Amino acid sequence: MEQIECLIIGSGPAGYTAAIYASRADLKPVMYVGLQPGGQLTTTTEVDNFPGYPDGVDGNAMMEDLKKQAERFGTDVRWGLVTQVKFSEEVGGWHHVTVDETTEIQARSVIISTGASAQYLGLPSEEKFMGFGVSACAVCDGFFYKGMDVVIVGGGDTAAEEATYLAKLCPKVTLLVRRDEMRASKAMQNRVLSTPNIEVRWNTETVELQGGQSVEGVKVRDRISGEESVIPAKGFFVAIGHKPNTDIFKGQLVMDETGYLKTTPGKTETVRPGVFAAGDVQDKVYRQAITAAGTGCMAALEAERYLGALH
Ligand code: NDP
Repeated sequence: MEQIECLIIGSGPAGYTAAIYASRADLKPVMYVGLQPGGQLTTTTEVDNFPGYPDGVDGNAMMEDLKKQAERFGTDVRWGLVTQVKFSEEVGGWHHVTVDETTEIQARSVIISTGASAQYLGLPSEEKFMGFGVSACAVCDGFFYKGMDVVIVGGGDTAAEEATYLAKLCPKVTLLVRRDEMRASKAMQNRVLSTPNIEVRWNTETVELQGGQSVEGVKVRDRISGEESVIPAKGFFVAIGHKPNTDIFKGQLVMDETGYLKTTPGKTETVRPGVFAAGDVQDKVYRQAITAAGTGCMAALEAERYLGALH
């Protein structure tokens, strides 16, 4: 059975940053890229807020660059999905990992960077305009809609936070809430309701997005009267929650009530020795590429220290 010193699961900014640090420290990391190689950034068009790119960078191009950088130092980047894990409870023990349900490997340290997936409404028109008016991250993409009217859907803290963020850039923000109340904290709701250029449409659901090459309007339905109308908008932001990709770790690692992995505060270590978590899989608050990269770096440094102490 193959034995690996440092296994990295997932290939977003957290995983690749961990790979760069781990390979430069000669841990000979092996990365399995998972179902969405490159992670969530491959679904956006332009990344404008990652330091070091004064003119912005295409999300796919940036992830290709990160991959090249990790490979330059010897990271073994492999296609494959980790389908099962059995983590050791002993310091220095081997962690058992199954790839694509067939290949068994053992790893002395594991960095989990499987990310989270934004939830979408599931409308065909939403998929059609993905990256062309549809976004699940206002902080990432809001700037591209500066000076334009936008619509955002959701009623939680994310929707409230993103609506107020967009209201600083856009003349009008329409927030679609499917019930007659928001789930967001009172403080966040008050901020939304006191922002003059945010209009909240209660009991309202999205029917479809309209437009040619990109979004031009959002057809909505009042859930009480059944009345339909179209809101002119160039941007449609979905903020109905994220799902961390942690199903395979259930029963082995500690998670919060929504499935995010818990780590020691200020560190990336989990409850199992030699198992670290970095990026969105353990962060439901910031969820940025740069914060994911930061925790990826931390995880690799912690793995290096863990492995170093064993020898
Ligand atoms: P939440 O799960 O809290 O909220 C999701 C919202 O989307 C709900 O209002 C829900 O409506 C709505 N929704 C779900 N599905 C649909 C749908 N198909 N159509 C329309 N609306 C839909 O997710 P968040 O991302 O907002 O927050 C996740 C966690 O992160 C929370 O614990 C939150 O407090 C936290 N957070 C904290 C922040 C902070 O402290 N600054 C910032 C952002 C998030 P309904 O209520 O009807 O179910």
